Amino acid sequence: MDIETDIVVVGAGPGGSLAAREAAKHGAKVLLIDKKAEIGSPKRCAEGVSKSGLEELGINPDPRWIARTSTGVRLVSPDQTSVWMDEDTIDIPESGFVLERKVFDKHMAMDAARAGAKIMIRTRATGLERVDDGIVITAENMGKEIKIHAKIVIAADGPESRVGRWAGLDCNTKFDNMESCVQYEMAGLEMENNNVIQLYFGSVAPGGYTWIFPKGDDIANVGIGVLKTHTDKTAIEHLDEFIKNCPETQNAQAVEINMGGDPVGGLIKERVGDNILVVGDAAGFVNPLTGGGINSALESGAYAGIVAADAIESGDYSAKNLKEYVKLTDENIGKGYDKYKKAKEYLLSLNDDELNDIAHEFVKQDINEINPKTMVKLLIKVSPKALLKLGKLF
Ligand SMILES: Cc1cc2nc3c(=O)[nH]c(=O)nc-3n(C[C@H](O)[C@H](O)[C@H](O)COP(=O)(O)OP(=O)(O)OC[C@H]3O[C@@H](n4cnc5c(N)ncnc54)[C@H](O)[C@@H]3O)c2cc1C
Repeated sequence: MDIETDIVVVGAGPGGSLAAREAAKHGAKVLLIDKKAEIGSPKRCAEGVSKSGLEELGINPDPRWIARTSTGVRLVSPDQTSVWMDEDTIDIPESGFVLERKVFDKHMAMDAARAGAKIMIRTRATGLERVDDGIVITAENMGKEIKIHAKIVIAADGPESRVGRWAGLDCNTKFDNMESCVQYEMAGLEMENNNVIQLYFGSVAPGGYTWIFPKGDDIANVGIGVLKTHTDKTAIEHLDEFIKNCPETQNAQAVEINMGGDPVGGLIKERVGDNILVVGDAAGFVNPLTGGGINSALESGAYAGIVAADAIESGDYSAKNLKEYVKLTDENIGKGYDKYKKAKEYLLSLNDDELNDIAHEFVKQDINEINPKTMVKLLIKVSPKALLKLGKLF
């Protein structure tokens, strides 16, 4: 079977669905394909998302895909000192809602369909060929090979993306920058506060952190991200140990397990080429500090959709014309990544004792008064060595 379209979007995660929605809204003929039988399932995500980030993209909160509204964050140091932060007083990335991603992703795809995009599920892209008037994506649909002729392809195929590479872009993620994640959805937790997301730092999760994201009174996503360069153990070994030792999780039961990579190393080198744009995780749009990528996948997808539709209208699908997407994403998403990368490096340079000392000082501090100046004062008090490390980075 041969299909003709203006734009083919590979991958119906948040990035792909927003790209398809915006491109269709702006007048292009769009086909959105995904290898999954059910969009959004299985999930590979702790499901924390920023409320304001959704609002900015015109996505109205819908109770069908919100599992929990979080009111803040609890940061836990290796000696179990807790720093509680309130959502109203401090801007916390990826905090606001804990989603039901299986429902959310489907709804984002439905919005793309409402805007006019065609959707093909159980359709796996298997190859890409450049032809005179554009690109041909070869795909497997329900066991049959199909060819999709498009003027532009939007690669939204997630962390293990291949489409960009097939098109000849320099878009590899280094192994060192891929966080290895595993997560259980669990029931029967005994949470001290089941309205806040919890992050545990230090040797409990070398190179990353452990999380508890509540989805119900006794239900939560309990997961971990580690860097393989920082530990000889597997992510699941670290997580099982955490669950056994944490009073909130030790009596809980897993009803689902998710595993996957999270590309925390920053943006890929080439986000556009002739006839192609790369969005979301495939382009490295993941906050290097938190590992969160839903908001930036949505936002990068939206920009890609608009730029691609404009290119269709103008008849110019060259990399030069598509560069507007790079400009928009640099200005609105990527510019903060250096700061987050440095903060992550700093965090990883601290040992358990230093993390404990910082947490002890934090709990004494009025959270409303935390600003860069008070932070520096606090770090001098805790450990001049810790401050020196920070100074070297900034
Ligand atoms: C364990 C874990 C926890 C996380 N927790 C959070 C969190 O709490 N908050 C947050 O903001 N981010 C989190 N993230 C990151 C977040 O899940 C991603 O950043 C986000 O899903 C990226 O969206 P995307 O659309 O770019 O890619 P994806 O959501 O990965 O979607 C890619 C889609 O492409 C499809 N696809 C892939 N290859 C092909 C192909 N060849 N043909 C057709 N379809 C294909 C896949 O089936 C998939 O549907 C987490 C990641 C992990 C691994």
